[in-house]
Amino acid sequence: MKTTYIKTDPFAPDEGAIREAAECIKHGGLVAFPTETVYGLGADSFNPDAVKKIYLAKGRPSDNPLISHIAHMDEAMKLTDYVTPDAKKLMEAYWGGPLTIILKRKSGVPDIISAGLDTVSIRMPSHSIANMLIRLAGTPIAAPSANLSGSPSPTTFEHCKKDMDGRVDMIIDGGECSIGVESTVVDMTGEVPVILRPGAVTLEDIVSVCGKGIYGGEYADAPKCPGMKYVHYSPDAEVFAIADTENFKAEMKGDNVGVITYEKYRDKAEGCRFLSAGENDNDYAARLFYLLRRADEEGIKTVFASLPENKGMGTAIRNRLLKAAGGRVI
Ligand code: AMP
Ligand code: MG
Repeated sequence: MKTTYIKTDPFAPDEGAIREAAECIKHGGLVAFPTETVYGLGADSFNPDAVKKIYLAKGRPSDNPLISHIAHMDEAMKLTDYVTPDAKKLMEAYWGGPLTIILKRKSGVPDIISAGLDTVSIRMPSHSIANMLIRLAGTPIAAPSANLSGSPSPTTFEHCKKDMDGRVDMIIDGGECSIGVESTVVDMTGEVPVILRPGAVTLEDIVSVCGKGIYGGEYADAPKCPGMKYVHYSPDAEVFAIADTENFKAEMKGDNVGVITYEKYRDKAEGCRFLSAGENDNDYAARLFYLLRRADEEGIKTVFASLPENKGMGTAIRNRLLKAAGGRVI
């Protein structure tokens, strides 16, 4: 398949260009587009044949459900019959933004977006290009991250293109994604909000709005978030998470050893390739996937990466990094 490219400024999106992409979605095509979290690979949520093409383009297992993206809060009613009072509060507090809310699926919503589950996951992004695309398409857009299954999610147009060229109808180049890790996924179908995937909206944020909430993620006995059981975020390089950066000393040196750490620890990368996580965990989140891919591009074979503290954005980075490292912590 020949992929068409559109470039537009996220701060002044070109409606004519985005209308072309929206037409493509309406006609059952696949469009990769930027969001504030990562690049997404979108199709019309209500067109099962189009959604099937997402799974094929990514090589995604068919039991891993997709998030439907909407441009206006009321559009949630296309996907669910009932928005719980707490879910409504979360929507008002954090939409548009990096929060995905799981609710009961409405009848008539295709099985394939939910991989057969009786729930549906919904997010309203804040990114201007994403929002304009959804609005012009006039339908919720099902979109997982626009990477080949198993690779780090793309946070730049170049990385999106690398995985999706020839596999999708269109890619919108809207520059870099500001947050850099995927949305927080919270299950609102029970008594208590359960975070199934940590992201930029934290457990504290959810508790501050709902007065309750737990982190279900990795600690749940039976993972409710089907995506959790698969290999994730793995570059070709072997990744090790550094538990105690203060006392870390790279045993291996050379250009093919990379160290991802904060600016304040750059001396820990002496004799290795320093890959900067920036000053804080917001910087780190925005760069993690980029740097894992960059490491491969530079022929780096081993990556050591600082494990952040388990709070705020650090929780989301830890979750992605531990998966990228396949649990290897030093
Ligand atoms: P991605 O689209 O690549 O960001 O992945 C979406 C994540 O949300 C995956 O880990 C899915 O397993 C999870 N997810 C999506 N829909 C549901 C749902 N209805 N119930 C539980 N988890 C979901
Ligand atoms: Mg993904």
